[in-house]
Amino acid sequence: MAVTVTVTWVRTSCVLLRIGAVHLLTDPWFAVGMRGLPVFRKPSILLKNLPKIDYILASHLHPDHFDVDAVRELTGRGAVVVGTVGTAAHLHRHSVLAEVVELLPWQRWSHGGLNVVATPALHTGPKPDEIGIWFEMSGFRCYFAGDQRFGPVFAQVGARLPRVDLALLPIGGTLIFGHRTTMDPADAVRAALVLRPRYILPIHEGGEWLPVPPASWHPGRCRDFLAKLATSGLDAVGLDAPPGIAATIPFEHPDHRADGEARCPTG
Ligand SMILES: [Zn+2]
Repeated sequence: MAVTVTVTWVRTSCVLLRIGAVHLLTDPWFAVGMRGLPVFRKPSILLKNLPKIDYILASHLHPDHFDVDAVRELTGRGAVVVGTVGTAAHLHRHSVLAEVVELLPWQRWSHGGLNVVATPALHTGPKPDEIGIWFEMSGFRCYFAGDQRFGPVFAQVGARLPRVDLALLPIGGTLIFGHRTTMDPADAVRAALVLRPRYILPIHEGGEWLPVPPASWHPGRCRDFLAKLATSGLDAVGLDAPPGIAATIPFEHPDHRADGEARCPTG
């Protein structure tokens, strides 16, 4: 049985996924400014034009990954927020009443056919800790890496959880005062080598905003990643889907797939 899966990169790590009739949105960010600085790359889909979102998957609470005003709007339309510990208190401070599920690394949660496993994630700290999010819906499996820098987490995810159909991997390579806080294209290929996804959408290319010192202006990183992936020896397909362009991922329900892997994580 075929399940229709489409993925649309909105901006940064904000990605819209449709799996069958269910809509999921990762790291929502629709604001046009941040911390008093202009945002150069606008969201490719306006908040008001989104379909009804069933689940928001939030890796951490940095403002370019967790837009409180957008969360207020989307939860008002029925979205459930799945995020790191501290998400509910953060929303409470902003007077947002929402259904929030907080997960520690390796904690699991299931709801309405959605199975989620939070993973550890290396990024910037301080607390609350960031998480990666492995999830499965209608047999389609995805790993959302949020805003992570490269680390042993990816090998752990590859070893402990079933192989994913799609990995959403940041590639911006952000440097904050000389410290890498987000994977660059080479890091993302290293992550893919241990995750072994069927498809990869490179996200968080950078260039959204101009911090001091300049750290996130990286035009061309998607092309760089796709070129590195093509010579990596991996059989993963890199999706060349610019923001706002929906990519359809061919997918058969696992009962009908050749790989025979278990539908749900068992480890
Ligand atoms: Zn961040």
